Amino acid sequence: MEDEFLRDLNATQLKAVTHAADASLQILAGPGSGKTRVLTSRIAHLILNCHLPPMSICAVTFTNKVANETKERLMKLIGKEKTAQLKMGTFHSLCARFLRKYPKQANVPDNFTVCDAAESKKIIGKLLKAHEGVLKERGLSLEPAGCASIISKAKSRGQSAKDCLTEAKAASGYRDPTTPPNLEVIVGLVYVGYEAELKRNNALDFDDLLIYGVKLFAGHKETVLWCRHILVDEFQDTNVTQYELMRAIGVSRCVTVVGDPDQSIYGWRSADVKNLEKMRRDFPNTSQFFLEESYRSTGAILRASHSIVSQDSKRIDKALFTSHPDGITPVLYQVHTEQEESAFIALEIKRLVAGMGGAFCWGDFAILLRYNALSRNLESALQKERIPCRVLGGHRYFERLEVKDLLAYLQLIDNPMYEPSFTRVINVPGRGIGEKTLNDILGRAGKTGKPFLELLEGIHDMKLPDHKPSIRKKIAPFVKVIRVMRTHASEGMGPSDLIRKLVDLLEYKEHLKKTQQDWETRWENVNELITFAKEVEEQLQMDKEHASLGLSPDDTNIDEDVSPLRQFLQVSMLTSEGDGQSEADNKDKVTISTCHSAKGLEWPVVIIPSVDSTTYPFIRSEDEDEERRLLYVACTRAKSLLYLTRSSSRMVAGDVKQKQLSKFIAATLEKSHKESSGPLFIQHLPHLEGEDRAIICKVLERTVPECATIEAAVEDFYKLGRTVPSNIVWRPAGAHLLAPVPSFPTP
Ligand code: ATP
Ligand code: MG
Repeated sequence: MEDEFLRDLNATQLKAVTHAADASLQILAGPGSGKTRVLTSRIAHLILNCHLPPMSICAVTFTNKVANETKERLMKLIGKEKTAQLKMGTFHSLCARFLRKYPKQANVPDNFTVCDAAESKKIIGKLLKAHEGVLKERGLSLEPAGCASIISKAKSRGQSAKDCLTEAKAASGYRDPTTPPNLEVIVGLVYVGYEAELKRNNALDFDDLLIYGVKLFAGHKETVLWCRHILVDEFQDTNVTQYELMRAIGVSRCVTVVGDPDQSIYGWRSADVKNLEKMRRDFPNTSQFFLEESYRSTGAILRASHSIVSQDSKRIDKALFTSHPDGITPVLYQVHTEQEESAFIALEIKRLVAGMGGAFCWGDFAILLRYNALSRNLESALQKERIPCRVLGGHRYFERLEVKDLLAYLQLIDNPMYEPSFTRVINVPGRGIGEKTLNDILGRAGKTGKPFLELLEGIHDMKLPDHKPSIRKKIAPFVKVIRVMRTHASEGMGPSDLIRKLVDLLEYKEHLKKTQQDWETRWENVNELITFAKEVEEQLQMDKEHASLGLSPDDTNIDEDVSPLRQFLQVSMLTSEGDGQSEADNKDKVTISTCHSAKGLEWPVVIIPSVDSTTYPFIRSEDEDEERRLLYVACTRAKSLLYLTRSSSRMVAGDVKQKQLSKFIAATLEKSHKESSGPLFIQHLPHLEGEDRAIICKVLERTVPECATIEAAVEDFYKLGRTVPSNIVWRPAGAHLLAPVPSFPTP
């Protein structure tokens, strides 16, 4: 078995995989060069050939999806049992699991709830309201998302709320109440309020998971003594806290990291490429390996992608070649309207699935977006053509009303102190509990530190007698549901049965029917949630069985004492990259994903819409180089075919805005015109105008300077039976456009 997985590797990959188990290692290489494969094979090698116990290996991936794919591959290499014993996941999920195991050492509440990004933003939004007046008066603007991001950055830097506020006050000479607070002071005040709110709710946000994780591992060495080797994928995107985590877990000083500086796309979340240098200083026995062969993409896709990323003059160029055929030149398709663009994408996918002799199925396609809101038009175009699709990342599934309602109930059952869940479901289904009663309960909870449920029970059981019988009546069904559910949960009922029970008790289907027009789809989502819970349950059970095999009693089965409900909630809160639907269901669907969530993944066909001047670089981003790298990451997800599309106008907040071609692509076109190595993109230009026209003119000028219009020039070319430069495909008005896909290579 050992030989088999080592035989699949090239010489450098093999060297990296079999590098001494007690040494550290950096593998730096371009997309598709097999970094993740090397990481996976190295885990297998450490276990099978170096005989490290699987539970002594910690593997960190950037997304849960890549974690699952790596697990699947490892199961084939080392078997299910050993795979289940590995400590594997994202930094966040690993921390969450260890914090649950060692709450006392970590100084966190033992039934903490993970507060996801959306909830964080809501809490911050509420706190900001108190400063609305001052902001308005001073002509300042501070959005919840922006404020959340500043707070998150401060947290990642290790700056406490108190310090942040003290600093801001000192810097601005703020004196309450004589001087009004400036922006920094307001952020400081909100930060202080936010931390208090989390504490009151027994909640940790995503940043806390990492921060408390570092404190736990660095301050209590006994919690990491199990670790003999830690491996980190996508290392270029680790931030300072994650780096500290790696250092703290990697007590044995044996660390393998893989990464690609060209793919660093999380600077906006404080990721720092400098961690690569830092690691070489902190781990002096670190060797470096460079992989140069790409196994993913065709030559044409690699060349076009490289010409994008290499526009960054500060970048150190890396060699990357492929033995795959050159394949089809990537297509650049430009039209007038978003509708035309979406329709093209849908029809092109349909055409390829129907017409290529069964070579493609829906699951082979990914549409990668700069941000989620771009999917609106697309989803309806795909729907119109009856193309099945799923949305990866962007929390879409867990953001649905019905899913949020039921998860909020489960959270409240698990942690009766969690206010966001309480306020969400107290009137679901409608119970007529008014704002006054609600504020009264919230106020009391705040003052006494008592859980909401206890207060409600107090009112219900008349221990808090100052409420009218009518209010007690309204509260009664809620109290009953939570009481019954808490009993079931404490008796160990699994999450899927808990959801079924909850749905029955709430008569949730009836509630949906009454309140939602599209109740049938929503009801399907409820069933989907039950299926998801069942899957998580089975997975947890299997992991538990396998992990317990052959372990010494004090070995770390990190989830052993955590209730199934809590584990399920944890998986749901941290599943930002999956969409909660079962993977089997997703195999034959077109994937819609953000470029960020597509990291590390690959598809035979990748389509990148909206390659325009406000999207790449994204108009709100401050780091143009990072935006370019993001487009590079997106392009290099493609194995065989790559399409870039854009429309010259787009509806923004109800107004039609004109857009130019993305300057990253324009520069690439310029380059391919200048160089004789052949076109980097085939252009489909049903309409020619503006900048594009200028670029095309440059190409044609050399050959037909006398023609008045480009269209006329191209038409003349055709009439004369001459060949139009191969990087321009001109569509005579009304003709259906077909991308040239006669026979394509399958890498
Ligand atoms: P990214 O930077 O995008 O994360 P990567 O460097 O991690 O890419 P992998 O995902 O590990 O690349 O590999 C890309 C593809 O190439 C995968 O399908 C993988 O199975 C395949 N591959 C890697 N190495 C080899 C090899 N030696 N022989 C054949 N296929 C390989
Ligand atoms: Mg990878």
